[in-house]
Amino acid sequence: MSAIRKDVLRDENLIRNLEEIAKDTALLHGVLMRTKETPNSPEVVSYAPFTLFPSPVPSALFHQALAVQTYFNRLVDQVSQNPTFLEETLASTIKVDDFTARLFSIYRQVRQECQSQSIVLGLNRSDYMLDQNPEGGTSLKQIEINTIAASFGGLSSRTPDVHRHILKVANLLEECDQILDNNPAAGLARGLAKAWELYGSERNIPVIRRQFEDVCRTGSLDQSKRLFVDGREIAIVYFRNGYMPQNYTSEQSWEARLMMERSLAVKCPDISTHLVGTKKVQQELARPGVLERLFPDEPETVVQIRATFAGLYTLDMGEEGDKTVAMALANPDQYVLKPQREGGGNNIYGKEICEVLENMKDSSDRTAYILMDKIQPRPVENYLLRPGAPLRLSSCLSELGVFGAYVSRKGNDMVFNECVGHLLRTKSSEHADGGVAAGVAVLDNPLLV
Ligand code: ADP
Ligand code: MG
Repeated sequence: MSAIRKDVLRDENLIRNLEEIAKDTALLHGVLMRTKETPNSPEVVSYAPFTLFPSPVPSALFHQALAVQTYFNRLVDQVSQNPTFLEETLASTIKVDDFTARLFSIYRQVRQECQSQSIVLGLNRSDYMLDQNPEGGTSLKQIEINTIAASFGGLSSRTPDVHRHILKVANLLEECDQILDNNPAAGLARGLAKAWELYGSERNIPVIRRQFEDVCRTGSLDQSKRLFVDGREIAIVYFRNGYMPQNYTSEQSWEARLMMERSLAVKCPDISTHLVGTKKVQQELARPGVLERLFPDEPETVVQIRATFAGLYTLDMGEEGDKTVAMALANPDQYVLKPQREGGGNNIYGKEICEVLENMKDSSDRTAYILMDKIQPRPVENYLLRPGAPLRLSSCLSELGVFGAYVSRKGNDMVFNECVGHLLRTKSSEHADGGVAAGVAVLDNPLLV
């Protein structure tokens, strides 16, 4: 499968010329990132890494991913309001995984107090890879759903124009016309604005950015649990981090998270929705009968969601978990071993699965992980543009993300539920794991084929 012709990909003079133009175009369109060397400096930026050409994505699978997004929004929302499900599903995990346990204790504490805010804002991204079936077809398989700090809504709104320009310069006008518009940033903002309105705030929406420590120092709750930071009432808390242990640098960070969770502010996500994004919940949802119980009168919804699930297997203690261990040890290359972590670079592949599992297969430590079928996408040739890296033609794998935005009132139907755009990330097929921020994947655009 190649959307860009082979002779174009191998025209060295053209590629060298395009490389320079591509980087300029990225800068012009604001496809920017701060640098690793000076991550906090507003003085130095570089282009965000991206592919020279868009990558082919089968049209039917792309549209399937968009169409199922509003169902995933509802699924996340429903599970977040199902304490029995969350308690049962995460019971084994929180015994061995300290980070999830810490989040869970905030969840329990907030639940014990009377619920202060019934409005929920969800801004998520469901990620997929296109799996090759033995019969030669491809199918859409979900990698995970990110319910906290799902990134690249902004940059992916800007990359279409960069690829359009590159294709124009390369005289690939047909391909240029096929680049899709994409504006997740606008849709995510609509979700924020809706939640803001429901909170009962005035029109103008000022935004402040603070670290957990700042919130701990200058934040407080009043008697009706309204959240104030720096003397200003906060309507919506959007968590840009808080999804990995390193984000909580002190006890103050945890105190700040708890204070915000207890507050009347709308949280994006609230602690229960954050927990719905764990790999353990993902694995439990794939268990036969679980979706059916969550959507009892909607067999069509169940079919559409389930069609995107890859094989997911429990490592809980007992017969079923033992079977999972045996399966993984027998064919490690067919699986991915995943801990309850976010941010890329945490998964375990191939031979290393055996090493890790051999060490803990008889201990409850294994319940910190789940096992998943390894998706085998078809590699496509492309060039990855990354600051400081020499350009070369690489065999690449792509991952499609779909952004969802919703606003709900607990116990009621959705007030707002939309699929708001997409993201394509592409990496060299040498790398098993890792996203854009981890320095492995780069931004891309789908070229529907
Ligand atoms: P994280 O929360 O760290 O982003 P993911 O589940 O998204 O964890 O996995 C990180 C990366 O690992 C993905 O972007 C993908 O490249 C790769 N990966 C994850 N699961 C699979 C899988 N089942 N098959 C193939 N690759 C996978
Ligand atoms: Mg991911």
